[in-house]
Amino acid sequence: NTVMRFEHVSKRYGENTLAVDDFDLGVGDGEFVSIVGPSGCGKSTLLKLIMGLEPLTGGSLEYHAHAPSVSAMTGMVFQQPLLLPWHTVLDNVLVPSTLQSRSRRRTDRGRALELISMLGLTDFTESYPYQLSGGMQQRVGIARALLHDPRILLMDEPFGALDAMTRDQLTMDLLTIWERDRKTVLFITHSISEAVLLSDRVVVMTPRPGRIADVVGIDLPRP
Ligand code: ADP
Ligand code: ADP
Repeated sequence: NTVMRFEHVSKRYGENTLAVDDFDLGVGDGEFVSIVGPSGCGKSTLLKLIMGLEPLTGGSLEYHAHAPSVSAMTGMVFQQPLLLPWHTVLDNVLVPSTLQSRSRRRTDRGRALELISMLGLTDFTESYPYQLSGGMQQRVGIARALLHDPRILLMDEPFGALDAMTRDQLTMDLLTIWERDRKTVLFITHSISEAVLLSDRVVVMTPRPGRIADVVGIDLPRP
């Protein structure tokens, strides 16, 4: 069953830029889909459309998941973890909890500690971002995105700012995490090797804006 479906989606910025052109994609429940393509092909625009940060110009984008809002349904990991420097690791993971009720905040705290442990950060629970390596900071970003157990995890070049060794380590960790709870993931990357390692399906966007290339829909066997 499909969680999210793009049909003939297009997105134009102003008169001249057609960032996404007639994009079709169905993302299945629990599927890990990577979107690969050169810069400027419209990958980030797709995520903005999903998050409702930009309106579609044409076509439709449907969610088949029950949630009060898009923000409750999705968790987002950015290339830069965007941590608050004056907050500890725990408080950074708890940022999405800020506006919740007191009882919800208490539950969230337990969940945050669980995620911190799952991501191997227990010893750094009370540390500040400047005390962490880039890879550890990005783990905090992943924990924060998972706090409210979103149906869909959106990742925009999450390892793009990291060195090669940290990237490989985090890619393996992400695979382990994914195998634990089979969340639906939409993963944007420049790296074909990351995409192939992690994904059920790799969607290749070509420089022609928003067009899925012929190589789309490779179904990858899991080892
Ligand atoms: P499903 O309908 O099974 O969820 P998709 O929506 O991903 O599958 O689309 C089915 C297949 O159609 C894709 O795997 C891809 O091969 C092809 N396809 C979808 N959109 C395009 C496009 N814009 N250009 C070329 N091929 C496409
Ligand atoms: P990618 O993430 O694949 O690098 P983007 O989605 O960021 O691609 O951009 C797709 C195209 O849309 C590019 O030509 C980019 O310059 C253009 N674009 C992106 N955001 C805006 C914007 N806010 N206003 C105008 N043009 C934009």
